[in-house]
Amino acid sequence: MPLLLDLHPDAYPLEGYRRKQLLEWVFVHGAPSFAAMTNLPAAARAELEQQYALNPFIRTETFESSDGSVKYLFTLPDQRQMEAVYMPYLDRKTICVSTMVGCPAKCAFCATGAMGFGRNLTPGEIVGQILAVSWDQGFSPRELRNLVFMGMGEPLLNYDHTIMAAKLLLHPQALGMSKRRVTLSTVGLAKGIRKLAAEDDLGIKLAISLHAPDEETRQRIIPTGQANSISEIMAAARDYQQVTGRRVTFEYAMLSGVNDHLWQADLLADLLQGLVSHVNLIPMNPWDGSGFSETPEAELQAFYDRLEARGVPVSVRRSRGRDAGAACGQLALKQPGAAGVSA
Ligand code: SAH
Repeated sequence: MPLLLDLHPDAYPLEGYRRKQLLEWVFVHGAPSFAAMTNLPAAARAELEQQYALNPFIRTETFESSDGSVKYLFTLPDQRQMEAVYMPYLDRKTICVSTMVGCPAKCAFCATGAMGFGRNLTPGEIVGQILAVSWDQGFSPRELRNLVFMGMGEPLLNYDHTIMAAKLLLHPQALGMSKRRVTLSTVGLAKGIRKLAAEDDLGIKLAISLHAPDEETRQRIIPTGQANSISEIMAAARDYQQVTGRRVTFEYAMLSGVNDHLWQADLLADLLQGLVSHVNLIPMNPWDGSGFSETPEAELQAFYDRLEARGVPVSVRRSRGRDAGAACGQLALKQPGAAGVSA
């Protein structure tokens, strides 16, 4: 059965104000079923029920972390599974969604990479993660403040579906979000970054998982680095900035003894010269068998200080949800505490 959420708002069934009501039920009220759409005629509801699925998932399980973030494990009709993370930071609700089941990028320090690639998610399966969280949490999907494409998968390798999902986020009749509150994180694919820059009316925030300023280290931890050299990625980042006017974020997972040397902080500062950027240092989230460990606090601070001294805007992003297996790079496993997650 086709998924309603895969449709563009202009293609939603029903005519005129009934279509408007349907869109409001889905995106403003967050109705979890057609039956709940009480101001639609019973016949229309029954027909929708017969023709479309509203919930993309056959099962939704939640795992709560002690810091308040919640990992959602979704089972798709083909039995494949993927995850989203809800972070209820005070008044700014944030959701991190997946764009794929698994991931082909195979970053050496990421648990999702280790599980390999399953399949691309459809636009409705991507946006459906947000709706499912809102159904479970009991808030309107419109209350969502920040959305990050930073879950499982490489969004620029599922380009069309991710862009369609992003457009639904911004569409005034769908989620109506500000483009300033939507961030796409990529392993660094220059072609995809340029394509994204050229999208009409999109201009969402771009985060690039750089993780190393020198080619040798980057190729060791990110195999796709062979396809796109650091200089190609940096050139694409500059183009993105020029076209969209947006500051570009660089993500940098701190891996002990691998990419946390001060000479690498200097090299990173050199790379970023002339670019309006921001560096997010992410303490590496551990998982059994990764072969990497997190940079000790004192060294992380020294790396941070060096970047700051060089005039690079930098912050430390402490991942939420570690004890639920919900932190960056831990999305892969069925349950917290299951083999592979250090709780
Ligand atoms: N494929 C996209 C988005 C998914 S990963 C990308 O590569 O950007 C989201 C972020 O978490 C990326 O910056 C990723 O490199 C980082 N990450 C992966 N594993 C991690 C780990 N074990 N600890 C900390 N960050 C990790």
